[in-house]
Amino acid sequence: MIESNYIIHGVNGPVVTVVGGRGLAMHEMVQVGTLGLTGEVVRVEGGTAVVQVYEDTTGLAPGQSVVPTGGPLCVELGPGLLTNIFDGIARPLRVIEEKSGPFISRGLNLPALDQERQWNVTLAVRPGDAVQGGALYASCPETTLITHRCLVPAGLSGTVTWTAENGPHTVKDPLVKLTDARGRESVLKLACLWPVRRARTFASRLPADRPLVTGQRVIDTLFPIAKGGAAAIPGPFGAGKTMTQHQLAKWSDADIIVYLGCGERGNEMTQVVDEFSQLLDPKSQQPLMNRTILIANTSNMPVAAREASVYTGMTMAEYYRDMGYHVALMADSTSRWAEALREISGRLEEMPAEEGFPAYLSSRLAEFYERAGYVKTWEGKEGSVTVIGAVSPQGGDFSEPVTQNTKRYVRAFWGLDRALAYARHFPSINWMTSYSEYADELRPWYDKNVGPEFVPCRQRIVLLLHEESKLMEIVKLIGSDVLPEDQKLTIEIARTIRVGFLQQNAYHAVDTYVPLSKQLRMMQLILRLYDGAKAQIERTIPLSQLTATGIFQELTRMKYEVPNDQPEKFAGYEQKIDAALETVRAANQER
Ligand code: ADP
Ligand code: MG
Repeated sequence: MIESNYIIHGVNGPVVTVVGGRGLAMHEMVQVGTLGLTGEVVRVEGGTAVVQVYEDTTGLAPGQSVVPTGGPLCVELGPGLLTNIFDGIARPLRVIEEKSGPFISRGLNLPALDQERQWNVTLAVRPGDAVQGGALYASCPETTLITHRCLVPAGLSGTVTWTAENGPHTVKDPLVKLTDARGRESVLKLACLWPVRRARTFASRLPADRPLVTGQRVIDTLFPIAKGGAAAIPGPFGAGKTMTQHQLAKWSDADIIVYLGCGERGNEMTQVVDEFSQLLDPKSQQPLMNRTILIANTSNMPVAAREASVYTGMTMAEYYRDMGYHVALMADSTSRWAEALREISGRLEEMPAEEGFPAYLSSRLAEFYERAGYVKTWEGKEGSVTVIGAVSPQGGDFSEPVTQNTKRYVRAFWGLDRALAYARHFPSINWMTSYSEYADELRPWYDKNVGPEFVPCRQRIVLLLHEESKLMEIVKLIGSDVLPEDQKLTIEIARTIRVGFLQQNAYHAVDTYVPLSKQLRMMQLILRLYDGAKAQIERTIPLSQLTATGIFQELTRMKYEVPNDQPEKFAGYEQKIDAALETVRAANQER
């Protein structure tokens, strides 16, 4: 360990006070104590500085030295991020496990990427080429699904003076040398460093007018999210936040998934690794991990690293966005992240605001969600980062500060409901409290790509659910017998919508993912039955005759009976509806 002027003065959990020098800068990365633990300066005041340490601080003592690194907390970006699993400050957990067993040894300042692995690189520039920020200079197949594209950093330009040969290279090998107009040379490699707290730049923001298609009916149909949008999934324990995040990671049409396990149980993360390694990507039949990055900072890992983990994940997501990919970032759970903020803030003796959270909770959440977006990259391609954050409020109380502040920065809100989960209605997204402000902007996309019938069907479904909700208030008071027939029909069809359409079983081979075309057909059939039934009721035929045919029940099963690749089977349901209506009509004619 190098001696320095900076000396530990005090240690309070992950927070360390440092004395003896004025040279430390805010957000500078430092190595703390005899073990050289990774830390970051979070406060400077005269000759003292306060450092948050990303590792367990047991054994740190006053008098041990603190060594500045001269730069901010950075993450190494390059090929090898995909398929990998990192901790909150981007250390590769598999390598750590090999080196130190299941409990992370401290002071292991391992680079994120494998430094020895050879990648099959194709150079895209030649000596003499003039290049600028965003230009492609090299690429390599990172996995069977994703080509890694190395781009000249934004703001850099110059003339290529030298390039390496095509063929195998490590992340450390120089690939391209550039000289800028002032004669300064830069060396470009497969990997680069980026400070995690700084958002990566892009050429311009584009409107978020195409959906992230998730294959989950209640999301795609009722509360869609745009690519580049932000959504929150708040819900009490056991309501299905993690499950929903997994479903989106598996089935959404993002090119790349960054999955951030933040402060939740360790075995959930193990399950993710196991499950994703076995699952195949529906589009390519390749392992899902080939397009996935996992970041694990489970409840038993240091709290300061949890605070950093969301930025680490976001930086990686932006990095692939800049290559022209559509990235979805899942954070489970942002509440645990906010609790890490609260803990550190408490130890810093900052003035607490609502429920003990620091006053900057809101601005931190804003900074995080604002990094979502659909952009034009410096290279001129389109890429996006969609952010989906789970929120786990104590006792499922949505009025607490994390849920309320998150609501200000996301435009899709999928509120999970304890009562629905208890009744095994999954996904337990409450259709009365949830919303999506993207729906209107996405309409042209749905019109063009699914059909002009989609949005009108959606609107009718929403209306029926809202009418049912109003009627249920009355039913609760006086029972359903007294309702007029048309209102009974509303209740019957809304039940069909809830059971047959909104409920979706993640464990069922067919139902786990449903393409938009099938979602539309299902809505159309339910509405066909509704319209037919309504016409009969207007001719004073009682609803009970139609329900007796079993057709309402029948429709709730079509989600399981019609495989995604056999839409022709829907014709059978059309016939069944018409036959049921005809039976009732004929019976009443004879009367
Ligand atoms: P949370 O993360 O909100 O605490 P989980 O995501 O772990 O909750 O969900 C709890 C349980 O609810 C799951 O183990 C599963 O049995 C059930 N569940 C949630 N969503 C679904 C779904 N879409 N289909 C079937 N079961 C579900
Ligand atoms: Mg969970």
